[in-house]
Amino acid sequence: MIPDAPGANTEYDLVVVGGGSGGLAAAKEATALGAKVAVLDYVTPTPIGTKWGLGGTCVNVGCIPKKLMHQAALLGEAIHDAKTYGWELEPDNIHHSWESLKDAVQGHIKSVNWVTRVELRDKKVEYINGQGKFLDPYTITTQTKQGERRLTAKYFLIAVGGRPRYPDIPGALEYGITSDDIFSLSKPPGKTVIVGAGYIGLECAGFLRGLGYEATVLVRSIPLRGFDQQMANLIVAEMEDKGVKFEHRCIPKSVQKTDDGRLHVVWQNDKKEEFSDIFDTVLFAIGRRALTKELDIEKAGVEVAPDNEKIDAPNEQTNVPHIFAVGDVLYKKPELTPVAIHAGRLLARRLFGGSTTPMDYENVATTVFTPLEYGVVGLSEEKAIERYGEDNIEVYHAYYKPTEFFIPQKSIVHCYLKVVALREGDQKVLGMHFIGPQAGEVIQGFAAAMKCTFTIKTLMTTVGIHPTIAEEFTRLN
Ligand code: NDP
Repeated sequence: MIPDAPGANTEYDLVVVGGGSGGLAAAKEATALGAKVAVLDYVTPTPIGTKWGLGGTCVNVGCIPKKLMHQAALLGEAIHDAKTYGWELEPDNIHHSWESLKDAVQGHIKSVNWVTRVELRDKKVEYINGQGKFLDPYTITTQTKQGERRLTAKYFLIAVGGRPRYPDIPGALEYGITSDDIFSLSKPPGKTVIVGAGYIGLECAGFLRGLGYEATVLVRSIPLRGFDQQMANLIVAEMEDKGVKFEHRCIPKSVQKTDDGRLHVVWQNDKKEEFSDIFDTVLFAIGRRALTKELDIEKAGVEVAPDNEKIDAPNEQTNVPHIFAVGDVLYKKPELTPVAIHAGRLLARRLFGGSTTPMDYENVATTVFTPLEYGVVGLSEEKAIERYGEDNIEVYHAYYKPTEFFIPQKSIVHCYLKVVALREGDQKVLGMHFIGPQAGEVIQGFAAAMKCTFTIKTLMTTVGIHPTIAEEFTRLN
């Protein structure tokens, strides 16, 4: 239940802390509904000094630069494919410039930062470039160029997101970087070791290899924890075929600078055997922690989880009723931009628009860009078995051959799709998994279908679009 406003004399209706996807979406929606809103945004530089502009992780150091570097990697492949389609490319020795890519990516980010700022002004959201800290549950203080400001509000929204964690090993902070740094590195990353085999680790390894750099991934346990493991293993096999090295069951022990300025990395496997190699870049992708501590959140009385400082907020409402949270700060919720945006908008409508519609966190589609993509919506085979029992699950699957792969003789061994369904009746679809080019585009429409009651019968009676790869889902019988 949304509480009544605590005091009549508050300066704002809503103060949002964090100018990322979720915070901005909520702020704009609330203003459109007539609320007086301020957004505070501030970026603490990374240990190597990287800093960025308005828009949060997605715009500056996440989805947007990642997708652009993914595209650069795909274009490298396309150049080779193009020759087989009759394009005569001269000179034959085509090479890639990291500096040009980095400048283009950063140029785009700067333009988005600017557009975001202009949009806030046009929509009458007050933007304050300062770090917000709670003084008490009703007041936030911030230091601006003009001095200290104290902001009081009826409601607060914590949308501060997260930042990458570093392992507690010698040399990690001094010599390692994270996804916060990779997209703006002034020098080419060179031979890179990526620590962590989650989304970020695999995506970075994928585009770095695609751009021509040697890439090694240290996998602590399993790749892409939480995802369907058959699909995760196919992604790893595909990446190995493209030249990415995987060191399984390994954790890093130390990073030291060599006399010639490179990095000596020691790692250990689960049998305590040690290995080492020299790299140019060490990229940690071992998960992210929420930025709640920096908010002096205890002064507001908001409770956080002890392991990762995230906020458990059912319906985005924290344990302090007039303080809300959206985005990556939320405990056990998908760390995805569209999730934060959707939750932020719905919250604003509930606070200021009389709506009662809650955010639905079920069946959120996502894609791992590795660069052959893995798109998914719904349950993994493991989760479906856990929830419904093995005897009640039917799995439909197929390898397929994209028509356009034949002329360049590209490997098709990992182009695979799988539908997990209930066994009984019309067989309700529980999960859809797709590895292939443009998997994100393929899965998005099926995600809409899964919002309705979508069955195997519906899928099998749908006429496909030929020749596409998405039609493979309609040919599973
Ligand atoms: P994840 O938690 O997904 O993965 C962390 C990885 O690091 C795991 O493989 C983990 O292994 C490993 N790890 C953890 N601690 C250590 C350690 N001390 N030493 C070695 N390895 C370690 O985090 P990410 O940073 O990859 O991603 C964070 C979130 O960002 C994701 O949940 C995702 O939602 C979001 N994201 C979304 C993207 C998209 O939509 N395309 C792209 C990128 C990120 P283990 O499994 O053993 O714990």
